[in-house]
Amino acid sequence: MSYLKEKILKDGIVLNNDVLKVDSFLNHQIDPTVMKESSNEFIEYFKDKEITKVMTIEASGIAPAIRVASQLDVPMLFAKKTEPSTLSNEDQYETNVHSFTKNKTSRVLVSKKYLAPDDKVLIIDDFLANGEAALGLIDLVEQAEAEVAGVGICVEKSFQPGRAKLEEKGIDIFSICRIASLENNAVTFVEEATANEEY
Ligand code: 5GP
Repeated sequence: MSYLKEKILKDGIVLNNDVLKVDSFLNHQIDPTVMKESSNEFIEYFKDKEITKVMTIEASGIAPAIRVASQLDVPMLFAKKTEPSTLSNEDQYETNVHSFTKNKTSRVLVSKKYLAPDDKVLIIDDFLANGEAALGLIDLVEQAEAEVAGVGICVEKSFQPGRAKLEEKGIDIFSICRIASLENNAVTFVEEATANEEY
């Protein structure tokens, strides 16, 4: 069992049927072993994709993304939710990302300087839920006419539609943990879910 799964079972808190709190090891306090092991798994899966850049969205994607980027020895680029005063509209690619957990739509942007048509971009994020963050990042990569090499996710909630939306676009997705359900105050991983259920 992956270290991240063990941490989820030990320290994850099921807030309700939709939301898992992981702030003691993934997106507030950060466990270095979770980062190291997760990064190794992403690299193992995507190692033949000739990645030139790792991309994420601030804030909670940054920790896993920087580790993967440094292992691949390529830059890590994060989409910003606040506009830097040093960037003008013509210098940036921008898109909208709706967060269902925060019930808020944010305009996110990256400088045009840091994405080029010859980039092969690996997108990394902490969670995949409805897929809005990943689709927003894909949109930014496509605006630059660069290529999405794949999407690597630490925790996928497979009972929400994110994976299906990315698969519809033909994206290669690798998730370290796939959660089938958070019902009855318990985490059930896809592998343990009943054999005749489909995810
Ligand atoms: P999506 O855009 O796929 O709906 O959600 C992605 C973002 O929402 C993640 O980057 C993460 O910040 C947040 N998120 C979604 N579901 C959860 C959850 O169950 N727990 C936590 N802690 N964050 C979540």
